Amino acid sequence: LAATAWRAAEGVAQWESAHAHGIEISKAQRIAERGFIDAIGKTPLIRMKRLSEETGCEVLGKAEFQNPGGSVKDRAALYVVEAAERSGKLRAGGTVIEGTAGNTGIGLAHVCRSKGYNLVIYMPNTQSQGKIDLLRLLGAEVYPVPAVPFENPENYNHQAKRHAERTENAVWTDQFDNTANRQAHIETTGPEIWAQTGGKLDAFTCATGTGGTLAGVTRYLKEKSGGKVKCYLADPPGSVLHSYITSGGQLKERTGSSITEGIGQGRITDNLKPDIEMVDGALHIADEKTIEMVYRCLDEEGLYLGASSCLNVVAAKEVAEKLGKGHTVVTILCDGAYRYADRLFSRKWLQEKRLLNSIPERLQKYIVL
Ligand code: PMP
Repeated sequence: LAATAWRAAEGVAQWESAHAHGIEISKAQRIAERGFIDAIGKTPLIRMKRLSEETGCEVLGKAEFQNPGGSVKDRAALYVVEAAERSGKLRAGGTVIEGTAGNTGIGLAHVCRSKGYNLVIYMPNTQSQGKIDLLRLLGAEVYPVPAVPFENPENYNHQAKRHAERTENAVWTDQFDNTANRQAHIETTGPEIWAQTGGKLDAFTCATGTGGTLAGVTRYLKEKSGGKVKCYLADPPGSVLHSYITSGGQLKERTGSSITEGIGQGRITDNLKPDIEMVDGALHIADEKTIEMVYRCLDEEGLYLGASSCLNVVAAKEVAEKLGKGHTVVTILCDGAYRYADRLFSRKWLQEKRLLNSIPERLQKYIVL
């Protein structure tokens, strides 16, 4: 209670101070009245100082790691749950079921606790015990199942679907093909970027897992700018989307792999389907460049970012260089490095992945594990 009163007092004080300076603060910014879910979104747009100086452009990163669950996936988690509520499939005390090994599960766990739903998570049993433990301590019932391809009926996504079918008042949120995911970015991330830049942006770069972020933000920015904002997919090795876009729509077999987690895709999900044609181009970003950027962001910007964020930043830098001085490029800082520190900052792991030589000498002091 004391903490609540303190937060409320702090909110009022902030509002009064802002008001005195002529700044309007919306109700949602003062107090997250509906709890966790009201604290999702409205993230800062951070100017990447060194990269902006280096390119002569404004390179801006949307600080999605500041969402309360720690990633961009909080937005999609809230939207898929609220879509299920609106459809009547999920009622009070019901169960949300999803196949996920990462940030979506964490976002869903928080949203479900906040709204009073049970959460069941299916994931491949190749995932670390740390992820399983984290989801369990956030209140989820976790089923690690054999890691088999999507085509196999025993794949974790299909098992999640079947669990929902045999459970009363339960819903499979289906993040890959449920377009409420994309809608979160059409209605929140895209408008926030547009408002924060005053509509003065030239390009947007974004990696894809489900495709919700890329597709939703692209759709909004294209509509608002009359097609002027250029939108680019940033793809890691092992994903097929880069070649799909650059070859004019041919889907190849997946080959190769990447250190990035949560991104890379082997098919055109329903979240991507309507909007992927609007994407202007694609950049293929090698792990060597991504890992160097993890260390650069930490050293030069004070940003402790996960690999997918840094792949996005490399893509933003390359697009800025291509466009030339004076342009504004926005990207997504998907999550922080906290969950990946034992790999990204471990000498042994970097050696195993043959990435140690990609870290410049002056940045090797950050390899502390
Ligand atoms: N980065 C990270 C760390 C993620 O967990 C995800 C989602 N799996 C993404 C990026 C991609 O987001 P989206 O699903 O919206 O394509």
